[in-house]
Amino acid sequence: MTQMKRAKWTGVCAIMAASMLLLPIGGGTAKASIQSDLKGNRQVAIVIDDFGNNMTGTPEMMELPVHFTVAVMPFLPTTKQDAELAHKLGHDVIVHMPMEPVRGKPEWLGPGAITTVMSDEEIRKRVEEAISAVPHAVGMNNHMGSKVTADERVMRVVLSVVKAHGMFFLDSRTTYKTVLPKLTAELGVPLLSNQVFLDDVYTASHISKQIGILRKYLEDHDSCVTIGHVGPPGKLTASVLKASIPGMKSSTTFVTLSQMIVPSAEKDIIPHP
Ligand SMILES: [Zn+2]
Repeated sequence: MTQMKRAKWTGVCAIMAASMLLLPIGGGTAKASIQSDLKGNRQVAIVIDDFGNNMTGTPEMMELPVHFTVAVMPFLPTTKQDAELAHKLGHDVIVHMPMEPVRGKPEWLGPGAITTVMSDEEIRKRVEEAISAVPHAVGMNNHMGSKVTADERVMRVVLSVVKAHGMFFLDSRTTYKTVLPKLTAELGVPLLSNQVFLDDVYTASHISKQIGILRKYLEDHDSCVTIGHVGPPGKLTASVLKASIPGMKSSTTFVTLSQMIVPSAEKDIIPHP
């Protein structure tokens, strides 16, 4: 695959999100308990997608002054390097799994993608290989995937592998037809869902506006997951986040996704004070 084609898929990932400024909420935490009483603070999990291809903004994001979650595409030139660095810096690493969208060309997906025409066996093999390709991964989310995350057969196979590895799934919510709340509840896989896309438009004013939506959301909710990207908007997103984080720290605790999830067994044994 050429650099040009790789550049295409990262652009599309963000463009696909353009109609989802604030995503519908609900059913997203079926098996995941959210910590809500950490010193009365609200919790924000920043997730940055599309690492693994030395994309624009990668160093700036890695240096953000809080721990966050680094979603790394498998089988790309800096997949291993980005995952290793993120882990070393104390960030969470998850597999950013390429999945077929309703609209879009196959080459936008990147290597190793899951499509709805594949057999169960092929899907299982690809998910296993992707997990092996991303060191330190503790979870998975979808790159694109508006078609795949609405497909029960395909997602059942994906989630069975995720479960076998003791991982959680973050639904990027690229479709309102997602089957993830239903299937993760059935299979017992911890699920988190994206609530705010930060950078579907590549301007500082738009990203700042999305931070405002996030802060507004936290007035009525204990926690929020927000997704940004390296690639075309990467430097802008990193710079707006860096400027916004200090002002949010008095009321907000920044966590990684694994910190946001409390396993139900642990919750039963250790009650919150
Ligand atoms: Zn992506």
